[in-house]
Amino acid sequence: MTVSARDLSLRIPIDGRHRRMLIDGKWCDAASGRTFETRNPATGAVIGTVPQADSKDVDLAVAAARRAFEGPWSRFKPYERQLLLLKIADLMERHWDEIALSDTTDMGMPITRTLANRNRVLGMLRFYAGMATSIHGRTIDNSLPGDIVSYTRKEPVGVVGAIIPWNAPTAASIWKIGPALATGCTIVLKPSEEAPLTPLLIADLMLEAGVPDGVVNIVTGTGAEAGAPLAAHMDVDKLVFTGSTATGQNILRASASNMKRVSLELGGKSPVIVCADADIERAVPVAAMSVFANSGQICIAGSRLFVERPIYEDFVERVAAYAAKLRIGDGADPATEIGPLISLRQLERVTGFIEDGTRQGARLLTGGTRVTEGVLGSGNFITPGVFSGVTDDMRIAREEIFGPVISALPFDTLDEAVRRGNDTPYGLAAGVFTRDVGKAHQLANRLRAGSVWVNTYHALDPAVPFGGYKMSGYGREGGAEHLDEYLNTKGVWIRTD
Ligand code: NAD
Repeated sequence: MTVSARDLSLRIPIDGRHRRMLIDGKWCDAASGRTFETRNPATGAVIGTVPQADSKDVDLAVAAARRAFEGPWSRFKPYERQLLLLKIADLMERHWDEIALSDTTDMGMPITRTLANRNRVLGMLRFYAGMATSIHGRTIDNSLPGDIVSYTRKEPVGVVGAIIPWNAPTAASIWKIGPALATGCTIVLKPSEEAPLTPLLIADLMLEAGVPDGVVNIVTGTGAEAGAPLAAHMDVDKLVFTGSTATGQNILRASASNMKRVSLELGGKSPVIVCADADIERAVPVAAMSVFANSGQICIAGSRLFVERPIYEDFVERVAAYAAKLRIGDGADPATEIGPLISLRQLERVTGFIEDGTRQGARLLTGGTRVTEGVLGSGNFITPGVFSGVTDDMRIAREEIFGPVISALPFDTLDEAVRRGNDTPYGLAAGVFTRDVGKAHQLANRLRAGSVWVNTYHALDPAVPFGGYKMSGYGREGGAEHLDEYLNTKGVWIRTD
């Protein structure tokens, strides 16, 4: 059985029709009139077309965002912005089935997961709503002669450009739009060309909630034609980006045009360290799903599995057995645990890594093969793979695969695990499994990553900051720190004598 738009009684079915993008509160096509198709990665079927924006459309969207920033939106009180965010959250909650099915159909994540993400995403939005009324500066005693009062104000940074990837379109959109609206900024968001539909659906709900024209703009297009002009735009005050490290570097270079502020959530090659004293029964599924959830298309995938030597063989075999039982299928089938990869290109990239691993001498214990038979043959499916006998220098141990592949490596001492775990240009996340509270603290302190999970993985909460070390980027999403990324601090001096 698969879940269809009809089962969920949706207002906006996934029907292959053309959708327009949102600029200045109006649905519009690209100035060039060009469009591109988006496909369901589980079936290969075209599920819609969207405008293919270029720099002209980006200019229009940025100009609209600037007008809105300087217009009535600037007079919205924090409480009004809070109410608006809460209204958006309520509307999204009412339409969550629709949002979940849109993500499942456009990028393949199993429907059980997209439905279950509801509380996490709406929790974010409601968290930002709460934060909207707690933005404040400080009064600061100064040491100047005479009577001069000094204080700081926190002001919205202005027009925000946001560029997001395809692997979690709803969460990524809300992680950018939520803080922008909470702080009083306006935003131009460019979704990935691989999965542009859900951000348009969310934008529709935002209009319904009463978001003023130009405050939220969605421009659909490719990275080169729409993303690059947004990153380089002279009238964008801040650029917030989630995506690969290579694109992050391009964005950083482009942002030098007007020295806009930048925050970057980039790739990872996260270590998971399993100590011999760990609760093995509980660690196996968590370590496996740290990668296989969303078919490995997760930035925090714990793709380097370091296991203490005495339990190495047993643990890795159990992970392989767990992987072999995972049910692969169309994400719209509620029984599916592993959906497709986003595109044929991504599938070829992942199989390239698998061939490389085998060629370099690693042993594939299970999976790693493309599904070519039956109904799944027309989608981008690959079975979850587990490599043993991996060495630190292999490509599968060094580069982000962004697919369902675990590289398992044995270790002997904790110091060695820390050194090898940290031996990567990335620093997004790390996992630890141990029953020893001392080791848990030591590893949590010594692993150079923005998030460290002990005896769990994937735990995320809007109140806890998330982000990278090293080439996994900088800036934080979530937590009290997040809104500061969207605020400028102004010092004010007033002579009172
Ligand atoms: P990507 O870098 O290829 O594309 C991301 C976005 O950037 C897309 O919207 C794309 O159109 C745009 N883009 C591409 N080239 C551009 C350019 N020159 N200028 C401006 N924009 C450009 O990444 P992807 O393949 O969509 O996503 C996968 C990557 O995202 C992985 O590396 C993954 O780790 C990372 N990611 C990171 C996080 C995080 O929070 N750290 C979360 C999700 C995904």
